[in-house]
Amino acid sequence: MDCVFCKIVGGELPCYSVYNDMFAIAFLDIAPITKGHTLVLPRVHVKSLSELKKDEAAGLIFAVQRVSSGIMESVYPEGLNIFINQGEVAGQVVPHLHVHVVPRTTGDGLKFVTPRFEMSESDFKKLAKKITKAINV
Ligand code: 5GP
Ligand code: ZN
Repeated sequence: MDCVFCKIVGGELPCYSVYNDMFAIAFLDIAPITKGHTLVLPRVHVKSLSELKKDEAAGLIFAVQRVSSGIMESVYPEGLNIFINQGEVAGQVVPHLHVHVVPRTTGDGLKFVTPRFEMSESDFKKLAKKITKAINV
């Protein structure tokens, strides 16, 4: 499979490794947003979170938790942004699911521009019902 992250998982390409276990690995992002920006990914090649089995998903979140704590205790940021870009429209460039852990410090200049829009109470109700139904299929 021609996937750069699979090659890192398989040891064919190098990385600055910070964590690995049976479900996940973590290494420093090669083009960091801030110092300590780390990627945590499942060993298995999937593009999206929903493709993971339950134990793989739990393993990934456990690794994110370990890595996040490790960064807090070594890099000493004031906080973290933890996120997944899922799908090209959301900014996913590498098609192997990965969680970004980005250390944040006051004055680091990062801004997430998030315009909001308003919804009526009935639209909120309908939408919540629709999503709930899809989750529970
Ligand atoms: P995406 O936009 O897909 O969520 O993020 C991909 C991330 O992977 C980017 O932040 C990019 O800097 C990082 N990246 C891409 N190729 C490599 C690589 O070969 N090694 C490492 N360590 N990071 C990579
Ligand atoms: Zn892959």
